[in-house]
Amino acid sequence: DSVFAAIVQAPEDPILGVTVAYNKDQSPVKLNLGVGAYRTEEGKPLVLNVVRKAEQLLVNDQSRVKEYLPILGLAEFNKLSAKLILGDDSPAIQENRVATAQCLSGTGSLRVGAEFLAKHYHERTIYIPQPSWGNHLKVFTMAGLSVKTYGYYDPTTLGLNFQGLLEDLGAAPAGAVVLLHACAHNPTGVDPTVEQWEQIRQLIRSKGLLPFFDSAYQGFASDGGECFIAQSYAKNMGLYGERVGALSIVCKAADVAGRVESQLKLVIRPMYSNPPIHGASIASTILKNSDMYNEWKIELKAMADRIISMRKQLFDALTAKGTPGDWSHIVKQIGMFTFTGLNSDQVAFMTKEYHIYMTSDGRISMAGLSSSTVPHLADAIHAAVT
Ligand code: PLP
Repeated sequence: DSVFAAIVQAPEDPILGVTVAYNKDQSPVKLNLGVGAYRTEEGKPLVLNVVRKAEQLLVNDQSRVKEYLPILGLAEFNKLSAKLILGDDSPAIQENRVATAQCLSGTGSLRVGAEFLAKHYHERTIYIPQPSWGNHLKVFTMAGLSVKTYGYYDPTTLGLNFQGLLEDLGAAPAGAVVLLHACAHNPTGVDPTVEQWEQIRQLIRSKGLLPFFDSAYQGFASDGGECFIAQSYAKNMGLYGERVGALSIVCKAADVAGRVESQLKLVIRPMYSNPPIHGASIASTILKNSDMYNEWKIELKAMADRIISMRKQLFDALTAKGTPGDWSHIVKQIGMFTFTGLNSDQVAFMTKEYHIYMTSDGRISMAGLSSSTVPHLADAIHAAVT
């Protein structure tokens, strides 16, 4: 008998498992709205033109070799990534106070940050929003941190539970780490307003909390005090499987940042030694060339605009059908996802009867939708709620 005979079958991952179930479905009308990966109007994965161009440049450059990168990855990529998230004129960068490590996309950046905190930080509690991306709890728990939640989403308004957020963070112990979705909160699509962000910033600084920004969908970052930032190029450059990301630790002083960087290497070396070279080279090639950078921004905007247009089309389709309920949150929410408010029974019904796949919390990826599939989704939602 196998020494592993007693091992029980593990459940599928709640998000990635949606695709596993989708792949098994034989229906021609099946629709995968589970994973947050961009699809074209034709439902196909998209490689950005600017990414193809950068890859071509890299392939043609015969001086390029396949040597190991340093433990912290490509230095140029790290500089450009910090600049992208903190801004061109960031005082933290000018004063050399940022320690950056190229990591395995957003997840790897979060995990390295978590391991660093577990080893070097006095407060072991991290607060994540309720709800949050499903992997946050596991990433931080596996690193040895204690995970608590703060109020974020109000199911009655389908909006931000700002009072709950302020109360929970206000009651957090001094020094506690606070995970913030930099923008386009996953799964709810609900972000604080600029004024609310300012209040959150003041609360965090007055209580001496340590902010850890998860920027999987690029955008907002607060400069000034110390903070952690996990960046992913999966969605905004479409580099999903290349696993391109960065962890930046903004410190108060350059000498601290230097020591932090030295310790980051000790955290990373036994985890995976050093990161892969190809994807980070693509990202650097684009970020350092102003023509390619502008091209990237145009392509990124086109992806964002298509998602916004899907929101409008779905909202219009439900309105035209007279589907009971207020569906304005579909157009109000931000980012790749709509948190529909559908419950797990309704989701199961839509999967069974309409072959539509999504996470059981009612989150749909708008990026997986197209003009041709909106009517099918609207029919399914209508049937699920009536
Ligand atoms: N954080 C959030 C909130 C996400 O939604 C995701 C991806 O879905 C990630 C982090 C990490 O993604 P990746 O590791 O592919 O960059």
